Amino acid sequence: MSTAGPIVALLPRDYDAVLFDLDGGYFAQYSEQHGAIEVDQAAIDLVRSLRAQAIRTAVVAAGNDFAAMQEAAGIAPLLDIYVDRSEIIRPELEGKPPLDALLEAARRLGVEPLRTVVVADTVGEVEAGHMGRFGLVIGIDRSGRSQALREAGADAVVTGLANIRVSLEPPSAWVLAYEDFDPAREGIRESLCALGNGYFETRGAAPWARADDIRYPGTYLAGGYNRLRTNIAGRVVENEDLVNFPNWLALEFRIADEDWFDERKVRILSYRQELDLRSGLLSRAIRFEDGKGRRSTLTERRLVSMVDMHLGAIELTLTAENWSARITVRTAIDGRVVNAGAKLYRKFNNQHLEPLTGEIVGEDGVCLEVRTSQSKLHVAQAARTQAFKGGKLVKTPRRTVCEPGYIGQAFGMRLKPGETLVLEKLAMLHTSRDRAISQCALAARKAMARAGRFEAVLSDHVLAWMHLWRRFDIHMEPAGRDFGLNAPMMLRLNMFHLLQAVSPNSIDLDIGVPARGWTGEAYQGHIFWDELFIFPFLNFRMPEITRSLLMYRYRRLDEARAAAKSAGFQGAMFPWQSGSDGQEETQELNLNPRSQRWVPDNSYLQRHVGSAIAYNVWQYFQVTRDIEFLQFAGAELMLEIARFWASIASFGEEKGRYEIRGVMGPDEFHEGYPDAPTPGLDNNAYTNIMAVWVLRRALDVLRLLPDLRRLELMRELPLSAEETARWENISRRMFVPFHGNGVISQFEGYEKLIELDWEDYRRRYGNIQRLDLILEAENDTANRYKLSKQADVLMLFYLFSAEELSDLFTHLGYPFEYETIPRNVTYYDRRSSHGSTLSRVVHAWVLARSNRPRAMTYFAEALQSDLSDIQQGTTAEGVHLGAMAGTVDLMQRVTTGVEVTSDVLRLNPQLPAELERLDLRIRYRGHTLDLHLTRDALTVHGREPGIAPIRLAFKDEVHDFPGGSTRVFDLGK
Ligand code: BGC
Repeated sequence: MSTAGPIVALLPRDYDAVLFDLDGGYFAQYSEQHGAIEVDQAAIDLVRSLRAQAIRTAVVAAGNDFAAMQEAAGIAPLLDIYVDRSEIIRPELEGKPPLDALLEAARRLGVEPLRTVVVADTVGEVEAGHMGRFGLVIGIDRSGRSQALREAGADAVVTGLANIRVSLEPPSAWVLAYEDFDPAREGIRESLCALGNGYFETRGAAPWARADDIRYPGTYLAGGYNRLRTNIAGRVVENEDLVNFPNWLALEFRIADEDWFDERKVRILSYRQELDLRSGLLSRAIRFEDGKGRRSTLTERRLVSMVDMHLGAIELTLTAENWSARITVRTAIDGRVVNAGAKLYRKFNNQHLEPLTGEIVGEDGVCLEVRTSQSKLHVAQAARTQAFKGGKLVKTPRRTVCEPGYIGQAFGMRLKPGETLVLEKLAMLHTSRDRAISQCALAARKAMARAGRFEAVLSDHVLAWMHLWRRFDIHMEPAGRDFGLNAPMMLRLNMFHLLQAVSPNSIDLDIGVPARGWTGEAYQGHIFWDELFIFPFLNFRMPEITRSLLMYRYRRLDEARAAAKSAGFQGAMFPWQSGSDGQEETQELNLNPRSQRWVPDNSYLQRHVGSAIAYNVWQYFQVTRDIEFLQFAGAELMLEIARFWASIASFGEEKGRYEIRGVMGPDEFHEGYPDAPTPGLDNNAYTNIMAVWVLRRALDVLRLLPDLRRLELMRELPLSAEETARWENISRRMFVPFHGNGVISQFEGYEKLIELDWEDYRRRYGNIQRLDLILEAENDTANRYKLSKQADVLMLFYLFSAEELSDLFTHLGYPFEYETIPRNVTYYDRRSSHGSTLSRVVHAWVLARSNRPRAMTYFAEALQSDLSDIQQGTTAEGVHLGAMAGTVDLMQRVTTGVEVTSDVLRLNPQLPAELERLDLRIRYRGHTLDLHLTRDALTVHGREPGIAPIRLAFKDEVHDFPGGSTRVFDLGK
């Protein structure tokens, strides 16, 4: 059987059944030549691979000949059911036999049409599949009728069953696995294996672990901050930290009189730790032998429920292999914890919790309530621990272990060889911020009393993750010469962490996305501009989440207004680092671990963070067209940020242009001019151009608003026609520095800096990502050199297409040629140390179409930022969510070229050589669109029939795309 023509690959996660509306000839035929029935191997292979993925199958055909043929060929047992069309008479249905037969087949299989594929070879049957709203209709064309089949509603047309494949992935595409216990990398694994649900998150430390030099259990509440003061380097500094809340994992055991179990004190016979990304389950299996030759198997399964955001659960089993002894179990909620998870802050005060109450609840429960010392946030955790042997609940007397900030129970029982003890611990976490509760401890105890068994909790949780993956997964099929990495898994790990930081549970929680998620204490859980990298993945899948994140900023608009005012400006000046109330949270001083000197931190001068917020408002609006959000929150944000830019910009008579002085760009290595008494740089190109972009979009927003709302806002803010005229003027006359041949200067005067001897530094230091620290320790400063920590000018090419940039430059009266892009990319690419994980994402992006090999190297490095801890020591303190999101977005946008401009969803695909195909699903203005990209074609399949059409452009051709339709764009060579 030939496989010429397009191939359709079915993703098992998308479908529950396939209905073959075909005559028997497709599966088996009587061969005159051989005088026997011959089966079609391709058809059999297809049915087998469907069954292997638990996808059900039915054949819909007319008459008994087919059935007889299948029986004779021995195929019948492979198919789940056979529906004889001639027997289906259901007048109450459409009265259309082909449709009735398909619906009947789906009914008998117990599947939803939307989750069912129809494979048919006549116009009438294809039409029936389309009318019945089946999930996918594949037409088989053996005689050149593909156009007719398409017109009848076929989503795809292939030449035979051999061209339908089940897209299979090895289990490794979904599993992060470790085969050993490696103390040196335990911290990294704890961050990577952290489990969360967008409300709270717990690091992947073992249940028996206590904080020490290699392990660090941490539980963080999204947005759970507290402030503390410390006397440091002769002054009092105040820090707002993401608080490490009581450890609910605390579950340990000991055999006879041995020490409490610790991997480091036994002989490990085998070890496996697995994070199953598909189901959000962390598991461990350890076989070990203790000093007395006792061999045991210990397993753990753990989840933080995606369904019930207050719930975490552990199941621990211990099997005695060759011993008989008494074992003692201790289970607790341990609130004697401090914030000690980030090296940089070890010198700061770290006692955030005040213990309130610790109580035993019923026979098997404990409840601990604590309060943060300054923000007075109450957190209550109630946990129930049950023991089972041979499937039966074991009730043994329990001893209470109670100390301030700690409540636990200890109990014991005998285990004999071959016996397994199963412990189930379910913990409920509530806070005084929760809604629909009376008091947090009461809520936690109530929830604990109602909680089901581990298995039931797990199955709900798995379902929730399955639903999330259906919307969020990006399925990539690597080509033969792939990345040399398990890229599908790595990409999923990144998506997994994004969804654990913010999920449907986060909607309305009043949180932003912190740079390190809720997986560790680095950057104190603060929110930076990294949301710029995080939004595109979420915007295109669940904009309810990004809307909620924007509301976090909107609620802090007054704080940003106050900050602008006290700095002598107007509008809203958002903080570089944001926490609870939106005031500036950037540290005043940072310790350089190389020199042990406290160095002032001037990064708060990165005023460009406001532009990132405005950019995110605009992108959210482009994807959703949510005019209500724009009217009541988005517009105000954009107008106030624009107003800030207009007020900080001053007219420079000498240049005859507007300037922005005394700021920092994204490159944090440059804080000021060498030898200048005060920090700050003038005319950072990125800042100035972003300011122009914001001013122009703010003017667009005013035009977009309904008259009523525009007039209200103009009066309330108030905003005069003179002021907006000034915005327009600034947007045309902002200064942009250049030097050399069309190279945009990172800031004014950049050209006067000296070149660094990169080779010399590489030779002397090896890893020179943090050149700022190296130079400071050499009593020098990065300010003197042409170098950068991360993309700065290049951010412009990351955020804007060549057309948008050309428009911006033309508006400003500066020349812009396409060559400007490669020229600047080459110039700055040579001078970056990539001291921020965000940098490689941007470099991969800007090189994507000009230097693919180099772009792929950056992509691969960015993909491994945390898995390989490329910054050598930062991952243990939390994953880098911006880089994680950036890699996912690279895959999404570079391959499909998706962007929204002028109310058109544009696709300009280019599948990298490393991929065979890519499948993803996006939301756009009420449509759910499945995008399938292969080397030959891009198929866009809408899933909502009947909704208003959108405009969709393939390359430069704009098409109307009605709800629920399918378009196949040929990518012909
Ligand atoms: C980068 C910033 C980033 C921050 C948080 C810093 O190292 O320079 O651009 O916002 O980390 O991820």
